[in-house]
Amino acid sequence: MNLKFIGTSSGKTSLNRFHSSILISTENYNLLIDAGDGISRALLSQNINFKEINGIIFTHLHPDHFSGLPALIVQMKMNDRNKPLDIFINHSLENVVKDSLLHSYLLPERMNFEIRYKTFRDNEQIKISKNFSVLARKNSHLRELEQYQSNYSAISFYSASLLFEADGKKIVYTSDIGSTEDLYLFKETVSDIYIMETTHLPISSLADSIQKLQAGKIIFTHYSDKDIPQLNEIMATLPDNLKGKAFLATDGKSFEI
Ligand SMILES: [Zn+2]
Repeated sequence: MNLKFIGTSSGKTSLNRFHSSILISTENYNLLIDAGDGISRALLSQNINFKEINGIIFTHLHPDHFSGLPALIVQMKMNDRNKPLDIFINHSLENVVKDSLLHSYLLPERMNFEIRYKTFRDNEQIKISKNFSVLARKNSHLRELEQYQSNYSAISFYSASLLFEADGKKIVYTSDIGSTEDLYLFKETVSDIYIMETTHLPISSLADSIQKLQAGKIIFTHYSDKDIPQLNEIMATLPDNLKGKAFLATDGKSFEI
């Protein structure tokens, strides 16, 4: 199995890095996690054929994670894709995704490939392909917005952290979180790889946080350019037991698992 960082930037657009997205490749399935603004260019820049992607899973619908989808589907169409594309999404967000494609004039009647919506409930493990599954748990990333729920009853403030299991390996991806507590949403699991966003955590606390996590490798992502010096400083001064275990992701970096 291979993990490739397509983009590592936070919600802040950067000239040097693309927004956060990861490609997990198993023997028979290529799953893209999130498809934010600029995803088509990000994939092109890393020589990833749009047709090779079997499915896309969304953690939440902030633009740096979601708004590249209609444009990516257009690219798939223009590149003569004909195999189906799976979209994995929390059931409460399914219609938003469907509507955003329809309102981008991506009508099923005019497509050469099928988009198959595969919805999941919170805390439900679903199968992606043979020996490849995902469990999504709601985190507190959008909790602050829930106070407005009564004004916008149609909006779902669902944001997920994900636990993947593939070929006996476990990968946790926090995606965007709300607080340090969200780091322990899968605390019963010892992961082989733990991918941690850094924007919504105090950077100075990262070394402490990862001491408490049970994981083979910890990879930081979703950081803005201005945070790079501080992150490099933290990486350089990690205690001995974490050196060689914690990494800073960069665009295009791959990890073989
Ligand atoms: Zn984000």
